[in-house]
Amino acid sequence: MKPVAFDYKRPASLDEALALIKGNDGSTKLLAGGQSLGPMLNLRMVQPTLIVDVARLKELVGVAETKDGVTVGAAVRHAAIEDGEVPDVANGLLRRVAGGIAYRAVRNRGTIGGSLSHADPAGDWAPVMMALDAVVVARGGAGARDIPAGRFVQGPLATALEADEIAQSVRIPRLSPDAKWGQVKLCRKPGEFAESLAVVVIDRKRRAIRAVVTSPRHAPTYLAGTAQLIDGLKGWSADAEQKIKDAVAADLKASKLVGDDPYRLQIHRVTVARAVREALS
Ligand SMILES: Cc1cc2nc3c(=O)[nH]c(=O)nc-3n(C[C@H](O)[C@H](O)[C@H](O)COP(=O)(O)OP(=O)(O)OC[C@H]3O[C@@H](n4cnc5c(N)ncnc54)[C@H](O)[C@@H]3O)c2cc1C
Repeated sequence: MKPVAFDYKRPASLDEALALIKGNDGSTKLLAGGQSLGPMLNLRMVQPTLIVDVARLKELVGVAETKDGVTVGAAVRHAAIEDGEVPDVANGLLRRVAGGIAYRAVRNRGTIGGSLSHADPAGDWAPVMMALDAVVVARGGAGARDIPAGRFVQGPLATALEADEIAQSVRIPRLSPDAKWGQVKLCRKPGEFAESLAVVVIDRKRRAIRAVVTSPRHAPTYLAGTAQLIDGLKGWSADAEQKIKDAVAADLKASKLVGDDPYRLQIHRVTVARAVREALS
């Protein structure tokens, strides 16, 4: 199938882009790397009348490091993060995640802001940004607002962005030097979206212990009970593994995201346990 006919504009500034999407009723779509929008256009899952290309806006491609972390422009490509062009304030987690997204051709074009804004439930960046307590900076006609990553993704393909807002950047706090992380992506084939993706961050100095899990069937979710358990763990053991798996099952049951499907429950239990093991080793 081919996309519907649409107009294409490439504004020269963020303000110009915002003017083009003012009062957007959903008929205007932003284009960044096109790696998700392209297929959706081809399948006519979206049928815009106007596409506004934000991929090269200078306000969206910058990277600024401070002592507290790094601000990454929304249009920064996965490949730039994979290649270390962005300071990895998360002790190597950012590069690991970027390098594990699909394959290089996708990473050469796909962007961090496009991934977050598209909110594919199996997308790699959203759970990681949640585990790192990152903040998405959104720009609209009325100015900028901060949206914590934990509130940004609201469900499959749904975010806290208004239709006339643009994700400008992501502010990622710096992990303590001795903070640890684990990230496990379970795919049927390399380069595919994850069946289950777990991220664990243990930053005791900042009192930030996070466990997040996602899958193609639900939005990324914090596992609060599991994180509490991880906080008390001294090291890895068979007993610790069992306790983690039980805690994941309890958290997921409480969230009602997975239901009683034993397979879904089991793959999440396994990915989270492996992520904890990686973080503790
Ligand atoms: C074969 C294949 C495999 C893939 N596998 C994975 C995977 O394993 N893990 C993974 O995480 N991703 C995967 N992806 C998706 C990839 O990461 C995309 O790059 C990403 O989902 C979208 O980023 P984009 O820059 O291409 O956005 P686009 O496709 O250009 O846009 C996606 C959506 O976000 C909106 N948007 C884009 N930028 C902004 C912005 N700044 N502000 C507001 N809205 C915006 C667009 O309007 C559109 O609705 C895969 C893609 C392909 C084609």
